[in-house]
Amino acid sequence: MSSVSGVPFRFCPSCAAELALVTVAEDGGDKQRLRCTACGFTHWNNPTPVLAAVIECVDRDGAVLLARNAAWPGRFFGLVTGFMEAGESPEDGLRREIAEETALEVDTLQLLGVWDFQRMNQVIIAYHAAARGEIRLSAELAEYKLIPPQQLRCWPQGTGQALATWLRSKGIEPQWLDLKRE
Ligand SMILES: [Zn+2]
Repeated sequence: MSSVSGVPFRFCPSCAAELALVTVAEDGGDKQRLRCTACGFTHWNNPTPVLAAVIECVDRDGAVLLARNAAWPGRFFGLVTGFMEAGESPEDGLRREIAEETALEVDTLQLLGVWDFQRMNQVIIAYHAAARGEIRLSAELAEYKLIPPQQLRCWPQGTGQALATWLRSKGIEPQWLDLKRE
């Protein structure tokens, strides 16, 4: 998944004049906003919704698919994620992302929760996906692992909290990655 959130715009997308950081009095108090001095356009920089899936492979003894994004540095394996497209529901978006990135077919989706991911200025909307079929990764993903639920290790970010939430729902106390050591 690529992202441009967090990258500040320099020019107004409406009139192409330069944007300036201005202090604006709002209901919640003074805020710094990136605003066009020519036409008044404001770049609000609201968090971007990102869909994430705990994919349980029901035809592989319930193993969970974790994938390593080709664009990520290091050896981290995480949930399959993706941006919503205009005109689709979160569930439709996740079925599409899972099909595009893994070729798996989704039986059912269940919302696990919503978490902030402030470093990327994103909001994670996480689902459990019961899925089946042959796995064929898109070029976006470098490799995957199939891990029995009891052997999963969670991580502190929102997608890791989603994984922990799903494990607790199955009566499994989540184990956590020791990120200082890994
Ligand atoms: Zn403008």
